[in-house]
Amino acid sequence: MPSVLIKTYGCQMNERDSEQVASMFLAGGYTLTQDEKEADVILINTCAVREKAELKALGKMGLLCARPAAKPWVVYGFMGCMCQSRAQSLFRDIERLDVVTGTRHYHNVYAICNRLLRSRLGMNITEPLRRGAHICEVGEVEGFQNEIRDHLPPAGSCTAFVSIMQGCEMRCSYCIVPSTRGAECSRPAQDIIREVRELVDRGVKEVTLLGQIVNRYGKDEPVVDGKSAFVRLLESLHDIDGLERLRFTSPHPIGFREDLVNAYTYLPKLCSHIHFPMQSGSDRILQLMRRPYKNEKYLRLCESMREARPDLAITTDIIVGFPGETDEDYQETKAAVERIQFDNAFIFQYSPRRDTVAAAMNNQICLRVKEERNHDLLETVNRIATARNMALVGTEQSILVEGPSKTNPDRLQGRTSQNKPVIIPGGTAQVGTIAPVRITECTGFTLYGEVTTD
Ligand code: SF4
Repeated sequence: MPSVLIKTYGCQMNERDSEQVASMFLAGGYTLTQDEKEADVILINTCAVREKAELKALGKMGLLCARPAAKPWVVYGFMGCMCQSRAQSLFRDIERLDVVTGTRHYHNVYAICNRLLRSRLGMNITEPLRRGAHICEVGEVEGFQNEIRDHLPPAGSCTAFVSIMQGCEMRCSYCIVPSTRGAECSRPAQDIIREVRELVDRGVKEVTLLGQIVNRYGKDEPVVDGKSAFVRLLESLHDIDGLERLRFTSPHPIGFREDLVNAYTYLPKLCSHIHFPMQSGSDRILQLMRRPYKNEKYLRLCESMREARPDLAITTDIIVGFPGETDEDYQETKAAVERIQFDNAFIFQYSPRRDTVAAAMNNQICLRVKEERNHDLLETVNRIATARNMALVGTEQSILVEGPSKTNPDRLQGRTSQNKPVIIPGGTAQVGTIAPVRITECTGFTLYGEVTTD
């Protein structure tokens, strides 16, 4: 039985796409392996959001292709965003590479690789191959978004990602995603509902809906009774018996309306956490980023969601050191962090991205200033986040028990509805269940607790 190794770089969307590819190989009679010596097919799912991610994938594949191959017939392939932007040129970088497939072709990867492997096994190759098959598929495919629907057999996991749309039509000046993931394409609601029902039947309790700009799901569909297609989808999924929790990522202020804010008042399964990228607190910088809204709109959305769901945890992404960012602009970002009191924030130092508008902008900020602002903002974010976590000590929380703690297998780990990790004593709750827990301690970003019997 041949085996396949799939290594994934990048976001949750990539994780989900890799799972789709893996499930097709399994259905084709392959086994999944993490052993590079054992694999007959080796695939890397790539990310192009930053240069570093691309260099990492190129470096890894270069090493794999250069090693003395115990199995000269091995099929080497790249998938995903880097393929969409670099395509054929990747064969110049790594001559032994066989397959390059873009973001519309995940559902074709198994057929392409299996055909190639079978032909090589038929030829009884014994000598190492110097040049790969150089098969490149990066074109458009009608309905490709509907192909990301299969899941690996449940390995005791009570959570799952569900891809509901692909692509992004925003034009943020620093971002390469619109060119690698293409236009926004939504899946039919019925397909998503069926997929979630099947997951629940297999023991999944929590589902996270994925999309580059998830609240624009079904944007071409009419608003019905004041509700967008996205909110109607949330309602339909909410009605599925056995589904305990619903999450989604990542939303954008554009297309984020009152109906979605209201959903937090009447959909209790909708978790009390939203990851809502802010990027900058300065309107001048948002304009340079080509994010077409005023920061006050973003801040008001956060505050109205907190009014709708008082215990809502809000996390965000922030870029510091964007070209032209003055100290005043930076102070506006810091003030926004103080105003919203984020539960956490991922802070990125701006790094120029090939083929983006921002990379060609004047007034690029020097590394020293980027690091200073990064460090200063991190202190603020950590102070606020720790205070918000400390405030949970002594409270009762419901956690979805996910499995053994990553740092101590004698303990169990779960997550609150606010997506905060909680460690409890081992054997005090069942994995895959929602357990009532009293929070007894907090160490910054990790909570500790004990299961309450009442
Ligand atoms: S919203 Fe902006 S940052 Fe997000 S994926 Fe789209 S273009 Fe990129």
